[in-house]
Amino acid sequence: MLKMFLPNRMVHTPYDITADQLKQQGIKVVFTDLDNTLIAWDDETAPSHLVEWINHLKAAGIEVTIVSNNSEERVRKIADEVGVPFVYRAQKPLTTGFKRAMRLYAVRRDEVAMFGDQLLTDVFGGNRARLFTILVKPVKQSDAWNTKINRKIEKIVIALLKRKKPLTWEDQL
Ligand SMILES: [Mg+2]
Repeated sequence: MLKMFLPNRMVHTPYDITADQLKQQGIKVVFTDLDNTLIAWDDETAPSHLVEWINHLKAAGIEVTIVSNNSEERVRKIADEVGVPFVYRAQKPLTTGFKRAMRLYAVRRDEVAMFGDQLLTDVFGGNRARLFTILVKPVKQSDAWNTKINRKIEKIVIALLKRKKPLTWEDQL
């Protein structure tokens, strides 16, 4: 059970990950959380480095879809700014949102990477959907109120995971 919370990889930020690194892992499609993964949870516009990263992936033939538990209004605004499809109210860690996103692409599950900043939603959900899960450090140290509760549980899960194996952050995949 505990291993369902273990990400396949841990990187500081998605923005250092190149299309080549993803391709070497066999990744063809990127699903990504929005809040505190791509931008701070209270940021309202897409920064230029986000636009550049997505354009870099697209140019290399890697598709990107935002899979977020947040509202349609919030997710649509950023997704439209960067020009990618999105799934809102994804209900992570349930697999419903991932299944909706998977319907957009003709790829195997292990060809999809899921980036996210939370073990309890992004990694656990991504693992349940049998995607390649990549944990990133939160963009901002603070969280929305509902995430604060998850973070408390997350701390306990991290402590339990560390008993089994050391968790190390990497710079590339
Ligand atoms: Mg998040």
